[in-house]
Amino acid sequence: MKWDEFSDWGRKVADWAQDYHLTVGEKPVRARTEPGDVLNALPSRPPESGEGMEEIFADFEEIVMPGITHWQHPRFFAYFTSNAAAPSVLAEFLVSAIAPQCMLWQTSPAATEMETRMMDWLRQALDLPEPYQGVIQDSASSATLAAVLTMREKALNWKGNEEGLFSQKPLRVYCSSEVHTSIDRAIWVAGIGQQNLVRVPIKGDWRGMDPAALEAAIKADIAAGLQPTGVILCVGGTGTGATDPVDKVMDVAEKYGLYTHVDAAWAGSAMICPEYRHYWPGIDRADSIVFNPHKWLGAQFDCSAHFLKNPDDLVQTLAISPEYLKTHGKDGIINYSEWSVPLGRRFRALKIWFLIRTYGLEGLRERLRNHVNWSVQLHDKLAATPDFEIVTPPMWSLWTFRYAPKGAKDLDALNLSLVNAINDDGRIYLTQTRVDGDLVIRFQAGQFETTESDVMMAHDVITEIAASLMRGAD
Ligand SMILES: *Cc1c(COP(=O)(O)O)cnc(C)c1O
Repeated sequence: MKWDEFSDWGRKVADWAQDYHLTVGEKPVRARTEPGDVLNALPSRPPESGEGMEEIFADFEEIVMPGITHWQHPRFFAYFTSNAAAPSVLAEFLVSAIAPQCMLWQTSPAATEMETRMMDWLRQALDLPEPYQGVIQDSASSATLAAVLTMREKALNWKGNEEGLFSQKPLRVYCSSEVHTSIDRAIWVAGIGQQNLVRVPIKGDWRGMDPAALEAAIKADIAAGLQPTGVILCVGGTGTGATDPVDKVMDVAEKYGLYTHVDAAWAGSAMICPEYRHYWPGIDRADSIVFNPHKWLGAQFDCSAHFLKNPDDLVQTLAISPEYLKTHGKDGIINYSEWSVPLGRRFRALKIWFLIRTYGLEGLRERLRNHVNWSVQLHDKLAATPDFEIVTPPMWSLWTFRYAPKGAKDLDALNLSLVNAINDDGRIYLTQTRVDGDLVIRFQAGQFETTESDVMMAHDVITEIAASLMRGAD
């Protein structure tokens, strides 16, 4: 394809994308393909000679689209959303056209300086104080890995990268039982080892870490000759929105000089609304905080905002400066590749700029507030519906429930059949999780274009399908 043929296809793609977003609500949310359907539709050998875009595009519609689960569907209530607001998609289109690789300031000064400015806009949007600076990582998993490596290096007096961990005493990292699996993986990759990730018991409605139990665990480790290293807090856990009492956990972490990282991958977006900040008082004491604008805020995937109180610790952990990467004579500039594990970096800040300028913070806040309010309305309605139990209360727009009709025996099996039947039906999409061993169904609202009636439709679908399951069982 020649570049002078590009704009025709670019227009077709833009038309297609607009139509897709305007009509996606008419499709079943979850893909209906069987395993292997797409694989088998793709030729097993690559073509030797080139094909026309006409043909390729037709195959895209015929083979690919049926195998897509529609994350941009207004009734996507599963997992957490991965929103792609229109202006952020346009920014990504531009970025893919200019395709800069933004590892160093000089490899695209605009990308670096835009990133600095956008991370500071987000810092202000979340009301984090001045010392925090930020970097855009590809994922919360990467940000957490960078934070774990930093806490490891600090605890080892910066010797781990050089000497390895073989002659060190075991490093201990603390978190609650509710954290995301990305924490476990960061611990594995950092060489700390799963057995040194200490799960502190939780308590209370927010299912947060018990600070007294945290302190007891730290004391026991010190007595046993182990090395306390850091604490990973969770604000808005994936299963039920579990949230640690940040202030009280910080009291303990500070007392023992431990590095702290807060995983607010999903809920961090909500902190642009002042009224939700009561969920994290004390956040300004954390060393490292991550949230994903690509989830609830609307920035096209991927885009993870990582704030550091003292970026020098991170840079001291991750920076390698071989001669060919040095940008001579430009002291004081930021090379963001020294702030992350991957060297190469996409220009992700542009979509934040497009997004925030299009809606303004107030426009984004209004969306988030609607999602929370509608989700709570649905919660109230289901709580008042016979045979349904709320298992965990709304944390922002996330809560869990169970179908528990009188006389039903195996509630886990019943609820699993219910969630599967709902997803086969296609009007809405939900997922299950476990709470204290029980299988429960999650509900969260957060899709960018969802409306009140989309959310309330979930009540009809859930109760209708539950009733039909019970009729089937008779
Ligand atoms: C989504 C999520 C993650 C993982 O985010 P990635 O960007 O996919 O790595 C981690 N923690 C929490 C609480 C999440 O919701």
